Parts: sequence; structure tokens; C-alpha cells
Amino acid sequence: AGGGDGPSTGTATHCPYCALQCAMTLDPAPGDRVPVRVTGRDFPTNRGGLCKKGWTSAELLAIPDRLTTPLVRGEDGELQETSWETALDTLAARLQELRSEHGPDAVGVFGGGGLTNEKAYQLGKFARIALRTSRIDYNGRFCMSSAAAASTRAFGIDRGLPFPLTDLDTADTVMLLGSNVGDTMPPFVSHLQGARAAGGLLVVDPRRSSTARLTEDGGGLHVQPVPGSDLPLLLGLCHIVLAERLYDSEYVAARTTGLSTLRASVASWWPERVQQATGVPAPTLRALARRLAEGRSTYILTGRGVEQHADGTDTATAAINLALLLGLPGKPGSGYGTLTGQGNGQGGREHGQKADQLPGYRKITDPEARTHVASVWGVDADAIPGPGVPAVQLLQSAGTDAGVKALLVHGSNVVVSAPNAGAARAALARLDLLVVCDFVLSETARLADLVLPVLQWAEEEGTMTNLEGRVLRRRRALTAPEGARSELWIMAELARRLDAPGTWSLDPAEVFDELARASAGGLADYSGLSHVLLDEMSERGDAAFWPFPVGSTGTQRLFDDGFAHPDGRARLVAVRRAAHRRTAAGDELTLITGRLLEHYQSGAQTRRVAELNDARPRVVAQLHPVTAADRGLTDGGLVRVSNTRGTVDAVVGMSPDIRPDTIFLPFHFADAESANLLTSDAVDPISAMPEFKTAIVRIEPIRSP
Ligand code: SF4
Repeated sequence: AGGGDGPSTGTATHCPYCALQCAMTLDPAPGDRVPVRVTGRDFPTNRGGLCKKGWTSAELLAIPDRLTTPLVRGEDGELQETSWETALDTLAARLQELRSEHGPDAVGVFGGGGLTNEKAYQLGKFARIALRTSRIDYNGRFCMSSAAAASTRAFGIDRGLPFPLTDLDTADTVMLLGSNVGDTMPPFVSHLQGARAAGGLLVVDPRRSSTARLTEDGGGLHVQPVPGSDLPLLLGLCHIVLAERLYDSEYVAARTTGLSTLRASVASWWPERVQQATGVPAPTLRALARRLAEGRSTYILTGRGVEQHADGTDTATAAINLALLLGLPGKPGSGYGTLTGQGNGQGGREHGQKADQLPGYRKITDPEARTHVASVWGVDADAIPGPGVPAVQLLQSAGTDAGVKALLVHGSNVVVSAPNAGAARAALARLDLLVVCDFVLSETARLADLVLPVLQWAEEEGTMTNLEGRVLRRRRALTAPEGARSELWIMAELARRLDAPGTWSLDPAEVFDELARASAGGLADYSGLSHVLLDEMSERGDAAFWPFPVGSTGTQRLFDDGFAHPDGRARLVAVRRAAHRRTAAGDELTLITGRLLEHYQSGAQTRRVAELNDARPRVVAQLHPVTAADRGLTDGGLVRVSNTRGTVDAVVGMSPDIRPDTIFLPFHFADAESANLLTSDAVDPISAMPEFKTAIVRIEPIRSP
């Protein structure tokens, strides 16, 4: 990360990629190939710094294969250009036909955690009252659902970080579980310097990642457990904290319920048993627990590495239990949080894209919530369908008797990002109609019957909510190319053709006002906010953290005065067992997946940015030198990674930073290089999060012919 390069008078906005939402300024660059110049902007989260992806983000605005004309699949099987009028007329007619033939749930919607708050909100409304379908879910199900479920049951509310990121600056102890911020959001690392200086950066990761390396030379401790053993590890830490009376008994008595059940549930997780399950030596476990308890200012943070499992909710819950035993949440200078990944992963899960939720983070089954939201939408509560099905089920059942016959995909490249990607691709192929809204011909768009070209980040106004629950203005810096349209326009045009009730504004500020009204009284209450107020606040350097009800000034820190359960106490929830997970046997290895500095999510955007793609042009499998040598593999050679679900061919990258029983693949690559061809679509029973983070595989060298 680097600083800005001098004063700028351009458009103040935020990065198009991850949930740190680094602040940047876009200045016009007349005559240049790339239409704007990016400058890092001073802001509490990124302090003027940007990562490689941020610095090169303007390239997205100049990519040569930008879509600007709707594409329809012709009789020859090829995608061919068509007019907006024809595309939307044909689409509306086809949707009507499918609904008449099979009922409204024959049409599904798949949303995205990168959509602005306005679009996420409008998409939930569009699905429910224009399409009248319950079948809407989004790719955040693959990202934050376990952490959200765990936070909701423990605290009664889910805001990724319930405190401003700058609170971490003065911490002397920070434990990061399954998060590699050094690569995924490098400017974040500046907030870890206090903990590093105090020797209190504690990183739990099966790989010696760039973040784990920050613990070296006295910076802290890196613990390298067996992949998928995070839950036993956390049960063991809770056991030690209780057994050694390291817990904050006053806090636990005053602010939580459930201690006796929790105590019983972790009683048998003594350190030697945990050592067996995790490979982490018992003395290291004890040292970790003691360091956490000794911290003057301690934070526990989880990431996808521990959450993207079939027991992800229980694992995140165990991390929260540990934080509660230590008396961290809601105490000044300490806390628990989860690090949201996608750009609007936080806002994307608040406004109604989730199968079971209405705007304001309300349950769709709650009669009061239905009545309130219906009144904002101008319909009867009965007109809002009930809960739908979560993302994996929505995809798996596509094209079957029980599943949707048509799917509208917005801001998501599911054939790369879904687990068991080969099965997801086959499911999409069964559909009668696949519609993809995107600004590039992503791998999913390539399969579509209809592709609708949309605007991208710097071409329209909107808001995003970052990993702290801070609502940010995303601003237009340039005119969109002729032919591309906002999703708000597409939804309005379709709603009109489908004779839908309600109003369908094209103005993001108006849609935000409606969103704010719909959220009033909910957990994620935006009712006191508007684009105008957000603009004024950002001029003054003020922050807008939700909940932000009318008449308030927002809520930087949650839980200071109590938790969101009716009795104000947090719940210690007993979790006992890890999901049944077959362990690697014989010559099998455990596959783990994750991200690289140079790429974002499915890579549909970053693989089109030359500087990023040149640095990481193809998938590299990280393997321990001993493992590679055993299999006759050499650094830079080719390896075939396979299991019953699929096969990936990768370049070998030998590194002592990985356990010998483990192989790492980044998931940003497509087609035969897609790591998710190998991952499992088994899901967490509570959150429906798939088991992305461990899979059993075999490897073999690919010999040159
Ligand atoms: Fe910041 Fe994330 Fe963008 Fe990098 S990708 S500049 S860390 S918001």
C-alpha cells in the first residue's frame, strides 16, 4: 500500500473491490487510454493507502471487451447483439410464460455482495413483488452467512465489526483466525502495528501466509492447525480459559447467559485431545489462551478460513464464546469481529437479497416486518412471498421439477465462485432461461440465453456499507458508455412490462430514501440517512455507522450498553462437535482455497487488468517441497489435482509455508483452472454456507508429451 500523490480535486469515491472500501479520488484523464487517474485518499480505514488492485482499478473502465449491447443466444447457439427493447420485451414475455406454466417460484434471482445498497434493496423488492417469487438469494451466502448466523445468535445482531477499525490501532493483542489481510486487504495491516509491536499478533492459519509472517521476529505467534480443525482448536481454548480461570467472571455473570452449559460442552476438550485433533502442541494452546487473557486491549477477529465450512456457524460461535469468556465484546478497547470480504458484503446482506430476510435485516416470517415493508412497497403483506431457499439449493435444484426454470443473475459469476462448480454449471445448463447482468462476458454470462450490459462502479451514484458498518457514498466520475444501463433501469423496465405494483425509481438517491424507510425500526436501521446527509457528513469528515435511526447520529460502537437480545445479554452457545469430515488418507492431501493479492473473487474483473493478470496469469498450487518431491513434482512443473467432483491442472509452486499434508489453490481462476471444481457443496445446517475450505484431493504430475 502507498499514500496519495498530492492534492486532488476529482471525485471522492471508494474502491470497486473489497469490503475495506478504501477511499480514493478519481480525476479525469482527458485523452488518456484510461479515462480517470486514481489517487489514494486519506480516510480512517486506509489512510491514503491502496493495494495493487485499488491502484489499477481505473483499468476496469477501459477494458476492451466491455459489454455495451444486450446479447441474445441465437438459433445457431451463439450470442448475438440485440436491442434493449427487443431484449426486455422478449424477457418479460418469457418470464410471464414460465410463471403461468409453473408458478411464480419457477423464476429465481441470484444477487451479489458487490451491488450497491440501492441495487441490493431494489433486487429484493423486484424479486418479491414484480416477479412474486420467493426464490432469491445471493453470493453473500458463500461469504458471510456463517459469521452472520453466529453473531445473530450470540449478540442478537450482525455487524461485521461492531466497532470502528481504528479501535484496533491501540490493541496490544489481536487474534486473526482464518484471515489473510496481508494479501486480501493490505491497508488493513496498518491497524495491526500496535499488536505487532507488543508481540501480540496471533494468527491461526494452516499456511504461513503474508499475515502469518507479520508475527515473526517477536511480532506474535503463528499457529498452523490441520485444515478444518478450527472448531476443536476454539473448543480447546475455551476449555483452557475456563480450567485455568482466565475468564472474566464478573463480565460473564453480568453480561452473558449460558455459562454452565458452555462449561459442560468444553469440559472434555483438554489440550492434549485438542493437540490430537489440530496438530497444535498443547503448550502452544496454553500459551495462546494465556496471551489472549493477559492482553490489556484484546480483539478476536474471524475470516472466511474458519467460517466457510459445513460447521462454520458453530466455529464462529466458538470464537465468539471465547471472546465473551474473556469479556471482550462491548468493553472499551476490546471486541470480537468478523472481516467481511466482498465490497458490499455488509450492506448486501441487510436490504433483502437473502432468501429469509426483508430490508432492515428483518425476518421475512415476522408479521410485523412484512406489514411494515409491504406498506413501503405499496402492496398487501400477503403479496410478499415467504422464505426462499439458500444459494446452494437454488443452484443445485435449478432446472429440476422442484427448482427454478429461469434464473436472473446479478453481479455474480457463479460458475467460478459456487462450490462444486462443475455441478453448478450443469445445473445452469438445465435451465429454460438464464439471464446475466454484467459489464463483461464472465464465465457465467458466456452460458446465458440473454446478457444485459450494466454500468460499473465509477459510472453511477450509490452507497456501499463497509466492513465496519460505515455507510459510504460511491460517486459517478464519468459518463457511462452508450448502451450500458443501470440495473435500476432494467428492473424498472421489467417491472413495467410485468405490470408490477409499486414505484421503480431510476434515481439512486430516491431508491436510498425508500430503502431507509423500509429499514426503519429494523436491526440495520438507515432511516436517518440520505445521500444528501451522507455527502454533508463526508464533507465534514463524519462517519455514518448504522443503526442510524431518524434523529440519531449513528452508532460507532455496538454493545456498549448491552447486546441486542431482549434481556441485553449475549448468549454463550454450547457447540460440541465438528462436522463429519473425512480426513486425507494414504497419498491424499487436504485442499484449502483462498485469495491472492492480485485478484478479487472469481477474477472476472481482475483477470482483465493487465498488470494484475501479468503478475498472476494462472493458477499455482502451493505445495510443500517434501510433498512435491515425494510425488515427483518440480517447482514450475504441472500438477493435476483431482477428486470425485473434478480436476484442476495447475503450476506447482513449492513453498515451506504450507503443511506437507495440505495443498493450496487460489479460487480466482476459471474453466479448467477453477479451484471450486474440487470443493464440496455440503452445507452448514444453520447458515447454508458450503464447505469451501477443505476438500480431499489426489495429485499427480502432468508429464510433457
Ligand atoms: Fe483497498 Fe480492498 Fe480496494 Fe485493495 S481491493 S484498494 S484493500 S478496498
